[in-house]
Amino acid sequence: MAQYDVYIDEAAVRKAERQFRDAAKSGNEAMGLLLGNVFRNKDAEFVYAKEYITAPNDSTSVSVRFTRQAFSELSGKIRGRGIIVAWAHSHPGYGCFMSSTDLATQHRYFPEKFHFALVMDPTRREGSAMLKRAFRLKDGGYEDVSFAVVRKRG
Ligand SMILES: [Zn+2]
Repeated sequence: MAQYDVYIDEAAVRKAERQFRDAAKSGNEAMGLLLGNVFRNKDAEFVYAKEYITAPNDSTSVSVRFTRQAFSELSGKIRGRGIIVAWAHSHPGYGCFMSSTDLATQHRYFPEKFHFALVMDPTRREGSAMLKRAFRLKDGGYEDVSFAVVRKRG
């Protein structure tokens, strides 16, 4: 049985952290997508997010979305590399939670049980790592998803 709901590759997390830290320098949010796979067995289902991809963002200090042109770029990057398991975005300076806009995004684009949202605050730390939380939809609201950042073996 899987110990966590979600496993995220460390290199993917670092890539998102770099983008989020850079955007935070100009006070802006940033976003991208996590690609991976869903694994199921009798008692458990867990998600492995193995890759982070992004494309040009339209962002402010409190909002972010992909530009219109970003979508064709993203679909090229996704092809053959797993499915979209999550989106990741930053909340520079205001902590990790799902805003009403985030929840609307989750309902519209990431409604599956395996879909999650990774939210990071590049201005805050938890131990030696950037503060981050993962969430998924639950009963009209959302719930925390347990996750571990893992290093690729071999
Ligand atoms: Zn948000």
